[in-house]
Amino acid sequence: LLAATTTSTATDAPASPLIAAGSAAQHIATPLTDARAQLAEAVGLLGYTDGLHQMLATPRRELTVSVPLRMDSGESRLYIGHRVQHNFSRGPAKGGLRYAPNVNLDEVRALAMWMTWKCALLDVPYGGAKGGIAIDPREHSKAELERVTRRYTSEILPIIGPERDIPAPDVGTDEQTMAWIMDTYSVTSGYTVPGIVTGKPIALGGSQGRASATSRGVTHIALAALRHRGIEPSRATAAVQGFGKVGADAARFLSEAGVRVAGVSDQYGAVYNATGLDVEALTDHVRATGSVVGFAGAEAIDGAQLLTLDVDLLVPAAVEGVLHEGNAAAVRATVIVEGANGPTTPGADSILRENGVLVVPDILANAGGVIVSYFEWVQANQAYWWRADEVESRLEERMLSAWHHVLGYSQARGLSLRTAATALAVERVAEAHKLRGLYP
Ligand code: GLU
Repeated sequence: LLAATTTSTATDAPASPLIAAGSAAQHIATPLTDARAQLAEAVGLLGYTDGLHQMLATPRRELTVSVPLRMDSGESRLYIGHRVQHNFSRGPAKGGLRYAPNVNLDEVRALAMWMTWKCALLDVPYGGAKGGIAIDPREHSKAELERVTRRYTSEILPIIGPERDIPAPDVGTDEQTMAWIMDTYSVTSGYTVPGIVTGKPIALGGSQGRASATSRGVTHIALAALRHRGIEPSRATAAVQGFGKVGADAARFLSEAGVRVAGVSDQYGAVYNATGLDVEALTDHVRATGSVVGFAGAEAIDGAQLLTLDVDLLVPAAVEGVLHEGNAAAVRATVIVEGANGPTTPGADSILRENGVLVVPDILANAGGVIVSYFEWVQANQAYWWRADEVESRLEERMLSAWHHVLGYSQARGLSLRTAATALAVERVAEAHKLRGLYP
């Protein structure tokens, strides 16, 4: 296993990861500098020592592996994969697996840290982890993706398991990917281990409601946040960035709740209709063509424009860093609900805050996925399946209780929702760490 190291992108940045976290943000911001800056703010508020801060800022375990792939053509290629386990203080590590060309160790470290805070905030008994392979899944056949997934699984096998670290889908992976991981792990174990992954197909022990859980959670939070701002959802308008696993169903649930979804984008372009998009027809169009571009019921706009549309609610549901110092001042939405992980940089956060925009942070807003992952793991461990309505009501209850908790904490202390959510989560992790004590 590789030791946890600190990489600094700014040549003149100080050697300490904690100092670098603050100053590197002025140089080259990355998801990791953003995540560490958020942690530093929470730690400052909680008054923790440098030793505890360092422990919370640094992954517990990191594994980087080569993943050789035999292509269908017979030629072979090499990809690099990672699995970062940020923290185990509250239970097994938990987090998704991402396939995207720009995946790198620092990004995976940031995403793993956010998983720790997310699980703690929603009080699911997990630590945080994340995995990734720097590969573009769109350039590969299903057979190639199966081989790359099985080889990656076998490389990280020593550190995963239903009691160690439980992967799930993220950008570029899906329930089929989870089925291959489960099979590879099970074949190696000699028996079927459904608790090794979540986000599995229902036929293999996946949970009812898992596939749409993140989007459902985003919708519960968006409706609560709009109402908190005095905006009735039936009179609200929204823009959704990303029409993938999170964005597509979020647009659907929001429009079912009466919100007019005026704009939607994906990596190829964006579409806009002031009177509200027909999300069902748009979904059919995407199913047929692979993109929102060319949808008949709307005008084409560019992806950057989508973020600054004159709407009440903006849901970034794609990747990190899309709201930054260069565009945050132009945002016209009054509520932002983060379907993606890390879409808002700390610089953008302060601009939005000054402009009175309510930002509901990722670790709260998109936690529906990991909540139902937890339900799936519980069901797999008990070999007892819940009905869809049981899953959905338990999801709603957890999301709304976390929303009220974070809102109350932020109001009582005059903090942003992000700082409140991070502080609450960090406090829970630190408490578990203190109770367990330092070994030896
Ligand atoms: N990838 C999702 C996330 O970022 C889900 C993680 C999980 O279910 O373990 O929250």
